[in-house]
Formats: sequence, structure tokens, C-alpha cells
Amino acid sequence: MRIILLGPPGSGKGTQAQLLVQRYGIVQLSTGEMLRAAVAAGTPVGLKAKEIMASGGLVPDDVVVGIISDRIEQPDAKSGFILDGFPRTVPQAEALDELLKRKHLKLDAVIELRVNESALLSRVETRVAQMRERGEEVRLDDTPEVLTKRLASYRSQTEPLIHYYSERRKLSTIDGMMTIDEVTRAIHRQLLALGAIEPKTHARSAAKAAPAKKGKAGKKAAARPAKTAKKGAKSVKKATKSAVKGPKKAAKKASKKTVKKAAKKTVKKGAKKAAKKVTKKRAKR
Ligand code: AMP
Repeated sequence: MRIILLGPPGSGKGTQAQLLVQRYGIVQLSTGEMLRAAVAAGTPVGLKAKEIMASGGLVPDDVVVGIISDRIEQPDAKSGFILDGFPRTVPQAEALDELLKRKHLKLDAVIELRVNESALLSRVETRVAQMRERGEEVRLDDTPEVLTKRLASYRSQTEPLIHYYSERRKLSTIDGMMTIDEVTRAIHRQLLALGAIEPKTHARSAAKAAPAKKGKAGKKAAARPAKTAKKGAKSVKKATKSAVKGPKKAAKKASKKTVKKAAKKTVKKGAKKAAKKVTKKRAKR
């Protein structure tokens, strides 16, 4: 499976990409991560990218296309990959199309995570606070000023990709404001609908990725289907009972009515007969 995750900074692409990696056993190719590693290692690419990244600008297309082209060739990317943060411009998307065509590879889907821009700033602030709490190094470009610039470059250079992929019938848009779990489930449903994953394959890989928990929650979850089945059976029983009860009651009612009617009739008939007898007797006299 080969997919692209599209969305502004802070939309949750990285988080979702990691979850997809665990679930489907494919690799995450994040140009941002690769560039940060290059900067840390002080490679020629890193030296080129350092300033641009710190200011929130975009690294030249040929640099990132080169990185991705090499990375796709690696053995671990053979069974599939998630592109996170690439492509970011229309020329990068065109270069990717060319690259995949040359390698006889097909792109399964482009998933856009649509988010409310005003929420992004607070999301990034939370992320930074959490990283600080854990004692992790905070990214240089995770500041409100740089984020504003990164958002602007997303709007002007990356957003046109939404049109690019929707024209090619590759785009699926998902509400990125939902909880992490809900977004993951929505992506999964979309991939199923597109035929990018098979239901059975998924069930197996999901079980592998997240083996049943032994704790209470796990037990509860495991017991749930059985409970539901029991409940189902109970309600079927109830329904059958009432279905059987219905006609019985009706029959009882009906027979009661008939008896009453018959009795009334008999009483009436009897009274009539008695009256007739009395009249006859009187006439005789
Ligand atoms: P990210 O981790 O995806 O937010 O990327 C961090 C920074 O790396 C971006 O702000 C850019 O400066 C640079 N970068 C990452 N991916 C690309 C790309 N596809 N094209 C250009 N610059 C990129």
C-alpha cells in the first residue's frame, strides 16, 4: 500500500502515520524527519536545509525529490509506504508521479486531514509543552511565529495539491478535528473502501499489531461479542414469545367473545321461545 498524508503542520499527519505503520507494517517516509536527521548529521543536504527549515520556508524541490527517490529504493519500502510531508508543492507531486511510473508503482490514496486553522496553534503549543515535560528536544520551527509562516507556505504551495489529487481521483478528505482514534478509524474505513487493504489481511495484521489485552478492559472487550450474541438471542426469544402470545391471546379473546355472543343469542332465543309459548297458551285459553 502506498499513500500520501496531506495536511497543514499540526494536523496530526505524523501521529496518524505512526499508527498506520504499526497497523499495516509499512514504513513512514517523512521528509521533515529525514531533513532533521541530515541537519543533525551535518551532511551537505543538512547544511543546505538548516536555515530554510528554521525560518519555516520550504527546502528546494530537487533536494526533497532526491531524498524520496533514494528512500523508496530501500528494501523496507518495498511492501509499501506512507508519505508524510511530501509532496508539498505541485512540482514535487509531478516528480513523484514520474518516479512512481518509472518504478512501476501505484499510488493507492491521498488522505487529506482537514483541520480548523485556529486550533492548530494551540495543538502545536500543547505538543511543545508535552515534549518539554518529557525532557525532549523541541523543534526549532515549533514556535508561534514560525508556525504562522509554515501555515502560509502550506496555503500557497501545498494546498493546490488538494485540487491536483482530486482531479486525478486520488483524494479522500477526513475531518482531522476528531479524536486520534476516530481519525485512525476513518482512514481505515477509507482505505477499505478504496480497496487499498483487504478486510481479512487487516484483521490479521491488526491482531498482530495490537494483541488482545489481558487486563479487565481486554477481557471486557473479548467478552463483548458473546454478550451481544446472548442479548441478541434473548431478544429473539422475547420476540418469538410475543409473536406466539399474540395469536393465543387473540384466539382467547375471540373465543370469549363467541361464547358471550352465543350465550346472548341462546338467552335471546330462549326468551323468544318462552314468550311464544306463553302467547300460544293464552291463545288456547
Ligand atoms: P515537517 O516535519 O513535515 O513539518 O517539515 C519540517 C520542515 O522541513 C518544513 O517546514 C520544511 O522546511 C522542510 N520540509 C519538509 N518536507 C519538505 C518538502 N516536501 N519540501 C520542502 N521542504 C520540506
